[in-house]
Amino acid sequence: MTDLTLRSTQKLLDGRAFPIFGLGVWQSRGGDEVNAVRWALEAGYRHIDTAAIYKNEEGVGRAIRESGVPREEIWLTTKLWTNDIRKGQARQGLEKSLERLGLDYVDLYLLHWPVEGRLAAWDEFEKMRGEGLCRSIGVSNFMVEHLEELIAHGGTPTVNQIELHPHLQQRDVVAFCQAKGIVVEGWSPLIQGKFKEHSLFEEIGQSVGKTAAQVVLRWAVQKQFVTIPKSTNQNRIQENADVFDFEITAADMARIDALETGERFADPYNITF
Ligand code: NAD
Repeated sequence: MTDLTLRSTQKLLDGRAFPIFGLGVWQSRGGDEVNAVRWALEAGYRHIDTAAIYKNEEGVGRAIRESGVPREEIWLTTKLWTNDIRKGQARQGLEKSLERLGLDYVDLYLLHWPVEGRLAAWDEFEKMRGEGLCRSIGVSNFMVEHLEELIAHGGTPTVNQIELHPHLQQRDVVAFCQAKGIVVEGWSPLIQGKFKEHSLFEEIGQSVGKTAAQVVLRWAVQKQFVTIPKSTNQNRIQENADVFDFEITAADMARIDALETGERFADPYNITF
């Protein structure tokens, strides 16, 4: 476990190497996203997670293009929004994202939510991957029944990006994905800042010389979840990535596991957007 680094990867079913740690940029706007991506790349991150609906692809693409880091060293994920899935506009969705990003491919293209039209969108994803517009394809917020449906349709999602943090551990989805070789990526790993409600993280942090945020992120890393914390603050961007030089004991991992509440920020069975 201690041999993991910020540049470690997990192998996807399509053979590609997916960096286990990245920067999330939901709600990073108005230039903040440009700085955040630049600072993250300077701090050694090589994985950025955006989406069409975040309305910051222009800034994210600009920061990547101006970073001086070779494009092939950066893993960029974006996602197709629900209205485009419903309307059968997967191709238009990716073409528009690429135009905003100013890039000619993305590393990972995800179906953002399992809404109606998802199987047709998936078929288009496969074609676009064949054309090199996206190099890997996957899903987000898919529960076991959605994954079973897609697999029965002949699809091979490489990644499932789901809400995943100590309050919501989704053990059924995680176990299903791991059994099928689908890499699990967790969103809102810092519980959108709510980790501060628990003194446990502070306490464990003090015992290993780390901050509470670093303990929460390390928990995800040790669970083998690909993790993408969001921050637009340079110090925090550096702090969040500094989780590869310590280990949480099995006993403390179990204490964090016990924080499960089942509370969700968003429900894949009741998509209202
Ligand atoms: P998060 O759990 O990463 O929390 C981010 C918040 O935590 C910040 O706004 C800040 O307030 C706080 N924070 C960050 N670093 C900190 C530190 N070191 N110390 C103290 N506080 C700190 O929340 P998120 O943005 O919801 O999730 C991360 C990423 O996951 C998103 O940016 C996005 O890329 C992705 N995401 C995907 C979906 C999806 O449906 N696929 C949904 C939500 C988020």
